[in-house]
Amino acid sequence: MLKIFNTLTGRKDPFEPLVPGQVRMYVCGVTVYDYSHLGHARSAIVFDVIRRYLEYRGYDVKFVKNFTDVDDKIINRAQELSLPWQAVTARYIDAYYRDMGRLGVCPATVEPKATEHMEEIIRLIRTLVEKGVAYLVNGDIYFEVQKYPAYGRLSKRKLDELQAGARVEVDERKHNPMDFALWKSSKPGEPAWQSPWGPGRPGWHIECSAMSMKHLGDTFDIHGGGQDLIFPHHENEIAQSCSATGKEFARYWVHNGFVQINQEKMSKSLGNFFTIREIFEKFPSSEPVTAEVIRYFLLSSHYRSPMDFSDQALKEAKRTLDGFYDLFLRLEESPRSEGGWDFTLTFEKRDKSDDLNKSDFAESLKRAENITAEEYVGRAIAQKHFYTLFRGVMDDDFDTPSAMALFQVLRHVVNQLLSEKDLSRMSRDEIRNAFLSLGQVLGLFQVPVKDWVFGRKLHKVNLEAELKPKGELAYIQMNPAIDQLVEERNEARRRKDFAKADAIRKKLEEQGIILEDRPDGTTRWKR
Ligand SMILES: [Zn+2]
Repeated sequence: MLKIFNTLTGRKDPFEPLVPGQVRMYVCGVTVYDYSHLGHARSAIVFDVIRRYLEYRGYDVKFVKNFTDVDDKIINRAQELSLPWQAVTARYIDAYYRDMGRLGVCPATVEPKATEHMEEIIRLIRTLVEKGVAYLVNGDIYFEVQKYPAYGRLSKRKLDELQAGARVEVDERKHNPMDFALWKSSKPGEPAWQSPWGPGRPGWHIECSAMSMKHLGDTFDIHGGGQDLIFPHHENEIAQSCSATGKEFARYWVHNGFVQINQEKMSKSLGNFFTIREIFEKFPSSEPVTAEVIRYFLLSSHYRSPMDFSDQALKEAKRTLDGFYDLFLRLEESPRSEGGWDFTLTFEKRDKSDDLNKSDFAESLKRAENITAEEYVGRAIAQKHFYTLFRGVMDDDFDTPSAMALFQVLRHVVNQLLSEKDLSRMSRDEIRNAFLSLGQVLGLFQVPVKDWVFGRKLHKVNLEAELKPKGELAYIQMNPAIDQLVEERNEARRRKDFAKADAIRKKLEEQGIILEDRPDGTTRWKR
């Protein structure tokens, strides 16, 4: 039985979808005014794995993830860049797709944009006004939180406590400081849509209610997002949706934890802020390799726990994955003798293997320390059990760290077996298939073995990339041919032979290499 920690109830609830066999799931997507960062990568990968696991469990999943493509941040960004706001959103939606593609995140079933749902948004606001739970002030519409008595039920806060803690800058026009905007009148030059209350644009919270209910119905199964969205965003989504429909909105609320950088909160102002593209630049192995390294790192913590990003952690993830791919390479080798030892024949058959759970797993781990691999496999991780154990840990609120620990045990056992026995082709393939098919759920172990191993040799030096103070990225010089040209150019500059220096710069530019001369006299390059 799959159990999911539900923020709404504060406990792990057995998962029973509204319609048996089908899951309807909504996750708050990005506001497209900048490149996606590591926090976005975590959220995207967490819900990608949850979706993949639900599909692995046989559910038909309809997964909706939106784009917030109208927002104050977008308007500000457009002014900063002197671009039309549509150009800003188009640019960052493209960048988002590219980043997600690189990370191996599957596209959602529907990826709605707020600007394409104005009719639904306005209709929903009108319903709230008609029901008397929202009010108009100078072209703006506010939701009146006091009209929703259950306000605070997701974040477990009481309205009077919230009011007491509200910022001092009280907006006189609001009935209650916690009231929030559903519709904002537009100033000249800002994006505007016609509405019964004059030209304006929607507030952020109402977009998600309108889009989720349009694509998934008034009540649906799972609503997800980062923990920072619990209050006020998701609290407000619940208040306005339930007030409009009189029905429950989402039934299971799933929230992923933060990413910290070197034990500090990730923020632009602290300068320890990584975009997804910067991380790929930092670890420029082949993209599928880097994607698995990032995924392995992000999934090595439980999705609800906070996690700390550091170069060291990423390097460790790479090393661990190298260990797995070393095993896959061993498995690809031909058996020494015709036939070889048949691993599957020694599998213990346990009919009630569905009963296996995490404590069995802990027990297996304990036993693994003291017995030989053969005994161990014979007794504990028969292949059927391995699949069941995997399901057992993932059923426990998507416990990916335990799933990865399981893979480690299997790796250990198989490595030992390969040293002791000449495994048959069939056994080797079966083991490899277990890694491939279950790894698919996590988005791991999918790179062709030769690509991984070859790529590692080529790019070993990249792992030495250092995180510079303030999060500045060190561009990694790893190509001796390019390094040599850069050196020749610097030599030419020292001799004041600028014609030659420029020629070299041009030559490199033609190869897509951009040089950056540093104040300290060194030159870095990047593609
Ligand atoms: Zn949302």
